[in-house]
Amino acid sequence: MMHPFSYAKVADVDDALAAGRRGGRYIAGGTTLVDLMRENVERPAELVDITALPLREVTATSGGGLRIGALVSMADAAAHPKVRATYPVVAQALELSASAQLRNMATIGGNIMQRTRCTYFRDVTAACNKRRPGSGCAALDGFNRGHAILGASDQCVATHPSDVAVAFAALEATVHLLGPDGERRVAFADFLLQPGGTPHQEQALRPGELIYAVEIPAHPRPLKSGYLKVRDRQSYEFALTSAAVALHVRGGVIRAAKVAAGGVGAVPWKLPAVERLLVGERPSEALWAEAAVRAADGARPLRHNRFKIELLKRTVERQLRIVGGMK
Ligand code: SF4
Repeated sequence: MMHPFSYAKVADVDDALAAGRRGGRYIAGGTTLVDLMRENVERPAELVDITALPLREVTATSGGGLRIGALVSMADAAAHPKVRATYPVVAQALELSASAQLRNMATIGGNIMQRTRCTYFRDVTAACNKRRPGSGCAALDGFNRGHAILGASDQCVATHPSDVAVAFAALEATVHLLGPDGERRVAFADFLLQPGGTPHQEQALRPGELIYAVEIPAHPRPLKSGYLKVRDRQSYEFALTSAAVALHVRGGVIRAAKVAAGGVGAVPWKLPAVERLLVGERPSEALWAEAAVRAADGARPLRHNRFKIELLKRTVERQLRIVGGMK
């Protein structure tokens, strides 16, 4: 049985922030939160419906970047001509996520806030430090095939489930927040938190803060980009591994490389060692293979997910070849 809660729909940002200040939980598409409330994993006392707020625009920024409002649906973001033209990696990551119905409901803000798919997290009878701090982690000695090999801790080994967050991490996006203390911007790399000793703290949000947009900075043009997702089934499945790659090649030389991996990290996993190896080089089969080897630097596999190390390298190599060409 679901716990009782109050519900209010707000019409402007100030009302939303006032409700957030008194502890209300923001809800938009509801595709994560309502599920978790049904399973009694989350029990908010007050829901604040923010769907009427004017946060549904996709706009080009003056420098050549892109700002996506927090309430833009996944489907609308994926179909938007500016997104498709400038950052295909974002459109592809969205299209490879969830079902068409979910993509119509779920928002960009909600997508990056979604919670792990770790089965023990969703089973209220299991030990889970993320759901109940200090209770332990059933996944450490349990079935951990889908869990993280990078950025995990002895408190939590869950992966972050979002695909588009991997594209945002690769492209070094910024999360724009509004809160009781005004507006602030947080680099995507600092927004989603690694578990460490506090796996229940997942984002760098202060009490009452609201995501109002995600901004992708301008990258040098031409920029080729794309997203590859490897999973057990062809659809409606979370990634075993994934790779978001963006390359700027001029005069036959890679001038900029942005690469991140999904399905393997406690958070979307940026791959700076891979990026460094690519920049200044000429695209070649040998280069893709050499760079991909670095993708699993620092990996710490669990009992059932050692296969992800090799799968991650192959996923990155393949996506470098797809985006960068076979020379
Ligand atoms: Fe909970 Fe994290 Fe352990 Fe899963 S991996 S049971 S989410 S603490």
